[in-house]
Parts: sequence; structure tokens; C-alpha cells
Amino acid sequence: MAYDFDLFVIGAGSGGVRAARFAAGFGAKVAVAESRYLGGTCVNVGCVPKKLLVYGAHVADELEQAAGFGWTLEEGHFDWGTLIANKNREIERLNGIYRNLLVNSGVTLLTGHARMTGAHEVEVEGQRYTAEHILIATGGWPQVPDIPGKELAITSNEAFYLKDLPRRVLVVGGGYIAVEFAGIFQGLGADTTLLYRGDLFLRGFDGSVRTHLKEELEKRGMDLQFNADIQRIDKLDDGSLKATLKDGRELVADCVFYATGRRPMLDNLGLENTGVELDERGFIRVDEQYRTTEPSVLAIGDVIGRVQLTPVALAEGMAVARRLFKPEQYRPVDYQNIPTAVFSQPPIGTVGLSEEQALQAGHKVQIFESRFRAMKLTLTDIQEKTLMKLVVDAETDKVLGCHMVGPDAGEIIQGLGIALKAGATKQQFDETIGVHPTAAEEFVTLRTATR
Ligand code: FAD
Ligand code: NDP
Repeated sequence: MAYDFDLFVIGAGSGGVRAARFAAGFGAKVAVAESRYLGGTCVNVGCVPKKLLVYGAHVADELEQAAGFGWTLEEGHFDWGTLIANKNREIERLNGIYRNLLVNSGVTLLTGHARMTGAHEVEVEGQRYTAEHILIATGGWPQVPDIPGKELAITSNEAFYLKDLPRRVLVVGGGYIAVEFAGIFQGLGADTTLLYRGDLFLRGFDGSVRTHLKEELEKRGMDLQFNADIQRIDKLDDGSLKATLKDGRELVADCVFYATGRRPMLDNLGLENTGVELDERGFIRVDEQYRTTEPSVLAIGDVIGRVQLTPVALAEGMAVARRLFKPEQYRPVDYQNIPTAVFSQPPIGTVGLSEEQALQAGHKVQIFESRFRAMKLTLTDIQEKTLMKLVVDAETDKVLGCHMVGPDAGEIIQGLGIALKAGATKQQFDETIGVHPTAAEEFVTLRTATR
């Protein structure tokens, strides 16, 4: 049977655009449908605007440090409206770049909500299209627990478009988004409280990293409340919000921001017209080659709930395009040693196993850990400490994990990701000449095991 397209991609986000562009580049006839914004979450309400706001918040640190370097500054004034307007302009520019990338690579771009009407058929704006393969790349959406008053809370989607910077913010959650946005709000001058339901935030990250970040955020005056969760939210007469906690305490703020995870975006996708099944967590079930339980339908990115990071969605999109249309170049995605950063203030960079994961996997580990005050701070009164840690297999000398909390951690960890992928040993780290004077050189000068 002749189809309208070889590949029909639903969602022009990180994974969808990558798959569509490369498939078209390999000679396939490709369509992509996008209902909301070109570039998806990352470009519009994720990585990119988030990082711009993080930069904005970080300016406060630079201003605080300036006096130590001899600069006298007038009292600074921050204007949220300017930051958001400038951010919006940049996002619009990126939307245009994404449009050009798709169109110039020969992809047919359809604007509107896509719904599968069969295993080989998709409907967009009343028009039906057939395709040999359909790729679901519809991403995720913030999930807020079902408590009374949840409609009074905002999520990251709304935070990027707030009219004003709230004076008092309650951030709920203990993952990437909660920690990053707490840093943004706090850095820009809001009184910020972070509420997390467990003992310590960033579950799954290395224990030293979690404790170190907690201490640094407290030094910065952030109110961290662990083992705390909101039971209900009410609006007060003056417009502010009252959050009643499960332990009965009441907190008042101008904004309650929820970052309690993301669900797969499956709304009105027409899964019921196909044999696509969900896994036990509600994400689309796929095999190692991103095939769903319906042979003609594939899925990648956040909607499969594997690793919710843009570079992973890109790699999955690339793998699908190659397997279908350039099989001689196909390589499976390597999910080991994915470097990642949390853009908190100070930021975290991490790759490989945490100490806890290494022990659990049965490794006999040696830990090299260092805490120091960054050189840049020595002319200031700021007492922030940087943490660097290596988790090493005591038997093979292989470096299993690298962890950092401190300025530029995300930048530094990228290179260490290559070292871990190459299987570097601690001895090879030691034999690498440092770049002096940098914080990064500490990773090659950690001589004595701390335990
Ligand atoms: P998305 O990028 O979400 O794209 C899905 C697209 O599908 C969307 O454009 C959506 O509108 C469209 N769509 C959905 N349903 C339909 C339909 N039925 N018809 C047509 N179109 C549809 N990752 C990082 O690596 N680094 C970061 O710093 C980072 N920061 C983040 C910050 C925040 C606040 C958030 C929320 C996420 C962040 N992420 C970050 C995660 C990253 O954004 C996602 O992992 C990534 O965008 C997933 O890509 P995707 O292609 O799976 O989906
Ligand atoms: P995460 O899954 O990272 O964290 C969710 C947090 O919310 C956890 O601390 C979780 O607690 C808590 N939580 C979940 N359900 C509830 C509930 N019902 N009540 C109270 N607390 C709850 O999700 P995020 O929303 O922070 O981010 C989604 C994903 O996006 C991230 O996992 C990451 O992959 C990606 N991302 C990446 C970024 C980056 O690369 N820098 C930045 C932002 C997002 P518990 O731990 O106890 O389960």
C-alpha cells in the first residue's frame, strides 16, 4: 500500500524534531505535527528559558562579589518584566530556527493537534494522513497532586510567564525543577521556602551532593522544610495563599509552585485506535528499539518515561531515524553514564554511579572527596564551599562516578562524561595534567582516599 508519508512524527519537541530532520535527510518522506510550540518543552518552557532565568538569578551573586574586586556599585534594581520580555524574544527567535530547520530539511510541517485514527493513520485539523511509521514524541506535562485548592498553584509552565516576581514563594517537590526554581526565585529576591515530602531532596543523587547542596542553600537563607507536604491551599482575602501542611502548620505566600514530576502527554492522542499499550507507570511501553506494542508505531523521549532529558530524547530520535532509514549507521542509545546537571545555585554536575548505587551494585569502593572555597571567593566574605567527589572501584581502579557541587559544575562534568564512557581509571585521572588555576583541576589532584 502507498502511504502519504514514510514517517509521521507527532510532536515537534527535542526528540521529534531530531527524528524528523534526520529521517528526511536520509531520504524519507516525513511529516511532523505540532499543536503548541516548535521546539517543545525544552525550548519553550524547559531547559532554555530556565537557564536564562538561572543566569538572571546568578547576577545577584556577581553583584555581591563585586566589592571584593574593588567595584563600587549603585544599589541594584531587578525588573522581572524585562527579564521575561527578553527571554520571550529569544524563545521566539528559537521557534523560527526550529521552523527553518524542519522546512529546509524537506519535512512537511503541520500545525495542530494530532490524533491517531488507526495504526497507520493520523488526523490533524480534520485532515487524515497515512504513514508507514508513526512516531509518538509528545513529551510530558506537569503533574500536581489532587489536593483541595490545587488550581491556585502554578507549575513551571506558568512560572515562565508570571506578570510579577512573587514576594513569597512556596516551592513543592525535591527534584530537578523544584531545586532549580527555588534557586531562581531566591536569587531574584523572593522569600523562598522549599517543601519536600522526604528526609532530603534530590533522591537518587549522591548522598554527599544532596547534603552539601542542602547546607549551601541554607547558607544562602533559603527556608528548607523536609518531611513537609501540603494538604490544602486556600486563597485569603488579601489575595495571598495559605498552605495548610499535613502536620497542621500553616504557611502564607504569594505563589505556590508545584514541581512534583511530569506525566506523559497522551491527551486525545487516539491510543485506543491502535494496539499501543502503557507500562505500569502509565508511560508508553516500548522495546529496545522504541517499538510500541503496535508494530507501525514508535515512541521516544519523555513520553516513554525512561530518562527525561533533552540530550536523551535527541539520541533516541537519532536512533529511530537511523534504524528505519539508514540502518548501516544504527547504534543503540547508551544509557550508562549519562552526564547531567541540576542548575541550582550553586549547580550540581554528576555522571556515573553515586556512592550508594556503587555499593548497592556490589562494588568495593574508594571515595575521594574534597570541599574547598573557590579561589574567586577568596577576595570576598562569601563562605560558599565547592564539593568534588570521585567514586572509584577499589579492585579495578575504574572511576565509577564523578560528582560536583559548585560554580560551572555542568560545564566541568561534560568532559568527565567522556572519560567515564572511555572507562578511565583513577590512575589515568591522576596522570592527567591539571589546568591551573581552575576548580576543575581538583578532579585530577584528589590523591588521598577519604574512605
Ligand atoms: P517535548 O520537548 O516535550 O516535545 C513534545 C511536543 O509534542 C510538544 O511541543 C507538544 O506541544 C507536542 N505535542 C504533544 N501532544 C501533541 C499532539 N497530540 N499533537 C501535536 N503535538 C503534540 N532537560 C535537560 O536535558 N536539561 C535541562 O536543563 C532541562 N530543564 C528542564 C526544565 C523544565 C522546567 C522542564 C519542564 C524540563 C526540563 N528538561 C531539561 C527536560 C526536557 O525539556 C525534556 O526531557 C525534553 O523536552 C523531552 O523532549 P520530548 O521530545 O520527549 O518532548
Ligand atoms: P522529578 O521526578 O525530578 O522530581 C519530582 C519530585 O516531586 C520528587 O522530589 C518527588 O519526591 C516529588 N513528588 C512526587 N509526587 C509528589 C507528591 N504527590 N507530593 C509531594 N511530592 C511529590 O520531577 P521534576 O518535576 O522536578 O522534573 C521532571 C524531569 O524533568 C526531571 O526528572 C528531569 O529528568 C527533567 N529535568 C531536567 C533538568 C535538568 O537536566 N537540569 C531540569 C528540570 C527537569 P520523591 O523523590 O519522594 O518521589
